Amino acid sequence: MKEFNPFLKKFSKKHRRVAVVYPNRYVGGITNLGLQRIYFEINSNEDYIAERFYTDVFEGLRSVESGAYINNFFIALFSLQYEEDIFNAVKILKKGKFRGKTIAGGACVIQNPFPFVGIFDRLFIGEVENAVTDVIEDRHVEGLMPYSMKRRVVELDSEMRAQIVSDNAYGRSILIEIGRGCPRGCRFCIVRQIYSPARWRSADEIVSIAEANRDLAEKVAIISPSPTDHPEFKDVLHRLKDLGFHVSPSSLRADKFDEEMAELLSDVRTLTLAPEAGSEKLREVVNKGIDEEDILSAVEIAKDVERIKLYFMFGLPGESYDDLNEIIRLVEKIKNTGKRVSVSINPLVPKPHTPFQWLPYGGDPSKNVLDSIEEMRRKRKYLISKLRKIADVDVESIEKFAIQTVLSRGDERVGKYLDRKLTLSRIIKSELAEFLDHHPFDREFPWDRINMGYRKSRLRREFEKAMETAEVELP
Ligand code: SF4
Repeated sequence: MKEFNPFLKKFSKKHRRVAVVYPNRYVGGITNLGLQRIYFEINSNEDYIAERFYTDVFEGLRSVESGAYINNFFIALFSLQYEEDIFNAVKILKKGKFRGKTIAGGACVIQNPFPFVGIFDRLFIGEVENAVTDVIEDRHVEGLMPYSMKRRVVELDSEMRAQIVSDNAYGRSILIEIGRGCPRGCRFCIVRQIYSPARWRSADEIVSIAEANRDLAEKVAIISPSPTDHPEFKDVLHRLKDLGFHVSPSSLRADKFDEEMAELLSDVRTLTLAPEAGSEKLREVVNKGIDEEDILSAVEIAKDVERIKLYFMFGLPGESYDDLNEIIRLVEKIKNTGKRVSVSINPLVPKPHTPFQWLPYGGDPSKNVLDSIEEMRRKRKYLISKLRKIADVDVESIEKFAIQTVLSRGDERVGKYLDRKLTLSRIIKSELAEFLDHHPFDREFPWDRINMGYRKSRLRREFEKAMETAEVELP
């Protein structure tokens, strides 16, 4: 692992040591700009020194910077970006015999902090920029549980000028967060919900960050949930290209991809598109806002790309085998253009704060948990058998996503099951099985206690609209 401008602060006895822990692999952790920001904020304070921990560097037990053991740090800040990262976090705390104070934040904590209550001393809900020291010093800052149950949202003003550049998930590149949140209304999407409202950085600001780091990399990785919705997206691409940068966006929307954009992104070798569903009906249910014509036209325009990567879900409400066959048909059509096609297809996790939060895992409110799981297994097997003949297929297990569902929808009871591996059979035999089930309207969700800044009635209206389109009767 080579870093091109690590921020090296020398430890002295006057410093209090803060461990910044990403409980997953380095390559993903270093692309997390939020975590880099936390690291720089702490290191800019003369009383503290921050060092980083990743699971694939000394098993997460010793720091990247000095190799110091985690139990020499007085506080550990964890960033939970994926539900299963909690197992790595628990392992690090246990194996590292960590006795200091623990705080966790990140997407999983924002969506629902309650499953992690028994594991960490404090949980932070929201965006921590310019408040990291307050959090470390346990001040009553917005977002810091238990003092505040309100998600903290910040202005998206200036971005860090300096960053650690390394071989990250995008290759050696300068990372620029061009926007946060998303103006779209996909009904399954947690990203939109936990980072609302949509905010954009100006084209001038984006270009100046790239220029400030230009000696470090020739490539700019553009980070945002929906980069093509940036109001000055093409202008940004033109200006970065004129400055000699290669640009790689985190994703593209099929309905926004045109000839000009294809020209501006001519270095991109893989076009990633997320049709989410195969049939127009299910795309309408999830409110994706693109149709088959948009997808096929994006593929046609992307003449120079070598590979098309497609993201789909199954376990959607009202889904039949005809809908699954529509996925297979669409993949076949794209494959016939002569490009390499890879497909990532996974079960829907009905996430907190989204209109689908009332759905069971499996998407069918008339089925019990065991029948839903069986049905999902059959669908998965069917999709793999058909899609493998056409494309490279990546499908996670039904169990993995069931565990994710429980970790994202659970309450304080989840914590006591995290001491050892959480398996689907353990879930099904326990009180946790209810988190896989359909949720009646008259019961509160654990996360209703958090003020996220939206009205639940809006989500319910969206949910009812989706069920109507899906022709699903609620029990
Ligand atoms: S799936 Fe993408 S486009 Fe849709 S709301 Fe989420 S981030 Fe936005």
